[in-house]
Amino acid sequence: MSQRPADIWSAHVYAALGVLSYLFGFLISLGICVWFWWAYWPYLYSDMTIWWWPIITVPVYYVAAGITAWALFGLIIFLLVYITTLKKIDEGRFESAKTPCLFWAIVSLLTGSLFASIFFFLAYTKAGELTAKYGPIAIPALLVPTPPPIQTCPNCGNPLTYEAKAGRWYCGVCSTYL
Ligand SMILES: [Zn+2]
Repeated sequence: MSQRPADIWSAHVYAALGVLSYLFGFLISLGICVWFWWAYWPYLYSDMTIWWWPIITVPVYYVAAGITAWALFGLIIFLLVYITTLKKIDEGRFESAKTPCLFWAIVSLLTGSLFASIFFFLAYTKAGELTAKYGPIAIPALLVPTPPPIQTCPNCGNPLTYEAKAGRWYCGVCSTYL
């Protein structure tokens, strides 16, 4: 379970679901690509002494090249989506994640991926709220478990040092134990 504040965690989840749907899309295209190469391998690498053989092999070459390009395109898009949205949110760069989230929400909608579109739109809205709350770039402390509170002197407000020998907190400014 995450130590992050609930609103930062929900922005992470929204963006992650959007990114996952692009990963899923890439894996499907990769699966089809691998299947095609496996299924049509014999057509591409067999005895080519028969005069009509290129009539079959040339279209197969084109389709294989097309499917491979499609899978590579899917990988590049998936990486782009991840780098511009989820990675930025996880680094606390909410402001710069906003526009890409909206961009991918629109792209997803136009390409018929309603699931990804909804979650990128939610991530966009959440990134806006987080920017307003934590600033354009969240301090790293927000993204990691909260450190123990630093003791301060009730008289002068300076940080106290713990004197292990005395077993007490000491203020260097007031020169007193507390
Ligand atoms: Zn003091």
